[in-house]
Amino acid sequence: MIIAIDVGGTKISAALIADDKILEQRKIASVIHSDLTNLSHYLIELCQDWIAQATLVAIACTGQVGDEYVNFLSAKQKLPLKDQLECAFKLPVTIINDAAAAAWAEYCAIKITAKHDTPTPSADSINLSDDTLVYITVSTGIGGGMIQNGQLVTCPDGFCAHLGHVSVQHNSQESITCHCGRVNCAEAIASGTAIAKQASLILNKKVSCKEVFEQYLAVAEIAQLIDDASSAVCDLIANIKAVTGTNIVVLGGSVGSVDIFHQQVIAKVANLPEIYQVRITPPKMGADADLMGAAFYANKK
Ligand code: ADP
Ligand code: ZN
Repeated sequence: MIIAIDVGGTKISAALIADDKILEQRKIASVIHSDLTNLSHYLIELCQDWIAQATLVAIACTGQVGDEYVNFLSAKQKLPLKDQLECAFKLPVTIINDAAAAAWAEYCAIKITAKHDTPTPSADSINLSDDTLVYITVSTGIGGGMIQNGQLVTCPDGFCAHLGHVSVQHNSQESITCHCGRVNCAEAIASGTAIAKQASLILNKKVSCKEVFEQYLAVAEIAQLIDDASSAVCDLIANIKAVTGTNIVVLGGSVGSVDIFHQQVIAKVANLPEIYQVRITPPKMGADADLMGAAFYANKK
């Protein structure tokens, strides 16, 4: 059995998994911004009674997840989380970025569907013969995961496939500074946080990105803002296509999954020059994608 844990900025969820199925699941509020130094204590407490049955611990974690350290970007603090958890659980631990875990889950889900999709593939089945897939989540920020030639793209310090920090074109005359230190990153233009920030300026009151989509799409300047954000994501996808050659981009996240936004991105990508066109699909895995992806990945390792 595998203990899988998803360490997010808002919540931490843990699951006991056997034969690719969740047997039990628990959640607590995240401690990343309240008590990060003691994170490993919270995780061990959350899973204490599963340890005797488990052989592996699989972690999906927000931030820059390197071999030795996790750099919790929003908390501006690093932790040697893998080491800490190996000492605490006394089990092998694998740890990957949460968007990378979701990407791996999507890749596995498509592979499994393709395997059972015989003799005639269904209309929406996907050809993964080249074993390359990119996952983009447009949510509070913009995250991503890349699978190239059947391998999840990782690197020693964990700063790779952070697709929100690819710079893109945008319609404003002025550069938009990203919290990473560069300008015009996709995350600074099209994330939920960026949309909420710009909409609040337009409407002259504080609104969330969810409220923007639910209540203000009829305001012309807001409609333009959303249009600019979907153009930025289209530009990001064109950049990704040029780098990876992927034929599939899975576009998810609370903002990326809103129908109007998702459809705008699909329409704009369809208008790109032919070599940039990729198939854009919604995620197949639900809310447990990070947990399942971390578990599938640990199993493979
Ligand atoms: P996380 O980034 O941790 O995955 P959420 O999935 O809650 O968190 O995403 C948060 C961002 O997505 C916020 O900016 C929020 O306003 C926005 N959001 C959440 N639900 C919707 C929705 N239905 N439509 C548009 N934006 C949404
Ligand atoms: Zn950036």
